[in-house]
Amino acid sequence: MATADVVVVGGGVNGASTAFHLASLGVKGVTLLERRHLAAGASGKSGSLVRMHYTNEAESRLAFESLKVFRDFPNAVGGECGFEAPGFLQLVPRGYEAALARNVERQRRIGIDTRVVSPEEILALAPGIHLDDIGAGAWEPGSGFADPNATTYAFAEAARRLGATIATGREATRIVIENGRVVAVLTDQGRIDTPTAVVVPGAWGRALLHPLGLDFGLVPHRVQVTIFRWPPGLARRHPVIIDAVHQSWLRPEGATSTLIGVELGVGHADPDRFHEGVDAEYAALCREKLAARLPAFAGANMRGGWAGMIMMSPDGRPIIDQIPSVAGLYVMLGDSGTSFKTSPAIGRCLAEWIVHGKPRTVDLTPFRSTRFAEGLPWVDEDHYGHQSLTISR
Ligand SMILES: Cc1cc2nc3c(=O)[nH]c(=O)nc-3n(C[C@H](O)[C@H](O)[C@H](O)COP(=O)(O)OP(=O)(O)OC[C@H]3O[C@@H](n4cnc5c(N)ncnc54)[C@H](O)[C@@H]3O)c2cc1C
Repeated sequence: MATADVVVVGGGVNGASTAFHLASLGVKGVTLLERRHLAAGASGKSGSLVRMHYTNEAESRLAFESLKVFRDFPNAVGGECGFEAPGFLQLVPRGYEAALARNVERQRRIGIDTRVVSPEEILALAPGIHLDDIGAGAWEPGSGFADPNATTYAFAEAARRLGATIATGREATRIVIENGRVVAVLTDQGRIDTPTAVVVPGAWGRALLHPLGLDFGLVPHRVQVTIFRWPPGLARRHPVIIDAVHQSWLRPEGATSTLIGVELGVGHADPDRFHEGVDAEYAALCREKLAARLPAFAGANMRGGWAGMIMMSPDGRPIIDQIPSVAGLYVMLGDSGTSFKTSPAIGRCLAEWIVHGKPRTVDLTPFRSTRFAEGLPWVDEDHYGHQSLTISR
């Protein structure tokens, strides 16, 4: 009979981070189940922006704690996460200048290195950038992006070194609950008795959750990205940019390309049957939005792209919780397309909750699963418009 102290379901970056942090807190019997291969879900497809700017404090805190890990990855975890820090610019439309300033102030109080920047400063940071339509901008010098595949593999490998079992090609088919508590996880290759399950299944969660009577209104969405080769004359890497005017987000990719996504290409899709390539109309839209901000890209060559699946929660914010009605059941659900950059802290908090009885790194109360039933879905006070599907990469 197979047993485990904790079974983690899902080998994306959040599952791998959770397994690593559990093992590093001394939990010996950790088994991670991944039905395909590591980073097979959103993690392997991520744009992997690592920035602290959110329109709420809770996610900024998770991102800030996570940045410390990305910056010191070889020591903190081991292996490489491919973190690079060309800096991050948040641009907002006219009318949102005060909201941006309040968000920056909130972030500075946490300890985040960020400030509001003038148009002149933005031009110096990103020469050639078009600024006539923006209201304001904020700058984070230490932010950037990482390699989401390398990050996931490194977390899993570090967990394995500390004694965890990483079982790829093995699917969890049911969480078994008796007398209100987890007793086992059934898999396509047999049962694992365990008192604790951490369900981190990305866009594929409904099959496990619905039999337990857990329905949080999660909806899988297909998200695309496109890559453009730099045009001649662009000699310098631009920073990472989230452009709330054009609802786009972009970052350098390699030494001579730019990766961009636009929010308008996001739509519902079946996570088991979706087109993994990029749509031609979407690539055209990306070129248009990219050139509207960085005009040099008007004639840039498209180099390809891909699509991945994320799981949206009803308020576009993750659900990270110990399910109150089921002892031993922990979840990270509804990643909402924004949970790569926060994965180090999410995994650590879940591990702390299991080992110490509550998360220590960040207060997870705002992420509780019960907020919808309470009629208190998450609403950011100082958002930049487009509230229902905010640009939240
Ligand atoms: C195109 C794109 C761009 C993005 N850009 C950014 C960005 O710039 N910054 C950012 O922070 N976030 C970004 N995201 C979002 C981010 O990638 C995700 O939020 C994050 O990777 C989610 O990780 P996860 O581990 O929770 O889920 P996933 O990576 O989806 O992993 C879930 C895993 O669980 C496995 N699984 C599911 N069910 C079972 C089962 N029953 N048994 C066993 N295994 C199971 C799946 O196969 C999958 O591998 C982006 C996402 C996409 C798609």
